[in-house]
Amino acid sequence: MSEGKADIALIGLAVMGQNLILNMNDHGFTVVAYNRTVEKVERFLKNEAKGTKIIGAKSIEEMVKLLKKPRRVMLLVKAGKPVDDFIDQLVPYLEKGDIMIDGGNSDYTDTNRRCNALSGKGLLFIGSGVSGGEDGARYGPSLMPGGNPQAWPAIKEIFQSISAKVGKEPCCDWVGEEGAGHFVKMVHNGIEYGDMQLCCEAYHLMKDALGLTHPEMTKAFDEWNKGELESFLIEITRDILQFKDKDGDYLVEKIRDTAGQKGTGKWTAISSLEFGVPVTLIGEAVFARCLSSLKEERIQASKHISGPKETKYKGDKQSFIEDIRKALYASKIVSYAQGFMLMREAAKEFKWELNFGSIALMWRGGCIIRSVFLGNIKQAYDKNPELSNLLLDQFFMNEVQKCQESWRKVVATAVTLGIPTPAFSTALAFFDGYRSERLPANLIQAQRDYFGAHTYELLSKPGEFVHNNWTGHG
Ligand code: NAP
Repeated sequence: MSEGKADIALIGLAVMGQNLILNMNDHGFTVVAYNRTVEKVERFLKNEAKGTKIIGAKSIEEMVKLLKKPRRVMLLVKAGKPVDDFIDQLVPYLEKGDIMIDGGNSDYTDTNRRCNALSGKGLLFIGSGVSGGEDGARYGPSLMPGGNPQAWPAIKEIFQSISAKVGKEPCCDWVGEEGAGHFVKMVHNGIEYGDMQLCCEAYHLMKDALGLTHPEMTKAFDEWNKGELESFLIEITRDILQFKDKDGDYLVEKIRDTAGQKGTGKWTAISSLEFGVPVTLIGEAVFARCLSSLKEERIQASKHISGPKETKYKGDKQSFIEDIRKALYASKIVSYAQGFMLMREAAKEFKWELNFGSIALMWRGGCIIRSVFLGNIKQAYDKNPELSNLLLDQFFMNEVQKCQESWRKVVATAVTLGIPTPAFSTALAFFDGYRSERLPANLIQAQRDYFGAHTYELLSKPGEFVHNNWTGHG
């Protein structure tokens, strides 16, 4: 291969990097592969990349020389210090107008910092969310690129070719400046936590309150996957519930009930606290994982603390399954409404011009939260790009209305039977709070003023803050 002919270089030959390279190769792009541990380059070329036009480089210098200008270098390495280390190594070999893309799960504040620091050197930095796991990377991920907008025209063709498609529409579009792409990916992962928790609560109620068998639960999820809940996570839940181990028992029941987490759900919850946006469902989903991990404590507590005597639902099972479906659907609408509220607030703070309809489309295919439902969200924002909240869109208002009675029944039943449904419950509490003209925060204001002279506003005199002498003491 002569110098300067490759379309893009990719650094990081773990599973995501390898699969993205193969995907780019399939779409006709010439890719240079590089990795910190250089032996992995040779191994990759001899095995997975055998028979392709992928080329390997033994050093960063060699890699850069093989690239067309402006040079495009993508990193798929562990987030954090490894990204900064590679940036430092790359800078001396790159020229003004060259492009660096970080496709890892980086903290968006790091991307803000990197983008600004590199633009000072004339280099264009992109932080791109990549979702869909290994298979997505190989056959079509959802890609959420943000950063220096001047870089977008130069990477658009590669990114949109390799991304997932819904019909002919690529699940990849420009997200916004600085760390906007990584922020949107973070919210995606937070929503993923929420969706997974909703499936868990439905399963818990079906198993413990209704005493359903695995074939019955499988059937319910299968039915749900044919309607408005059609999604990757409902589909895999169906498949998991019917999966039998070699001994013929259901594998899911043998799995220790302690959930792991890598942190992106937690980041979403932290950032919702930082921005003051009530993203309660994702927060509860993260806490539910934390509670699950207290297995030893829970075992001890279960021996000493008892719940209600009645733990089984006595009514009609089939109609309660439908109630659970509606509770899940309404809770999911709330969760997405909250996620979009968070993105709207971040956009305001950082002056990013986020296009919410195109974000919904980017998530519509390729990624873990892909669903038919995201098509409805896209339509809502297409109808009204200024929509302040999904719950105020006519379609979603009607959908929640149709579910409301069942949703309340499911939460009330779960509480009565002592089955925890933190996500269903918090979504309902949010919904009731959001639709309330008056909340009891007047009392909080009075309390704050009582003990700390923090002042309050009177309804009759907005904008005027006053203090009251509550005790009559001097
Ligand atoms: P990974 O295990 O997160 O990272 C392995 C890669 O990082 C290897 O190329 C490794 O090089 C390199 N690396 C690790 N520490 C390094 C250091 N200190 N300095 C330089 N390079 C270092 O791989 P992955 O699962 O393929 O993920 C890559 C990125 O994509 C991550 O940011 C991940 O969060 C993100 N992501 C992953 C998924 C997924 O499903 N796995 C999905 C979306 C996004 P060596 O070979 O030399 O160790």
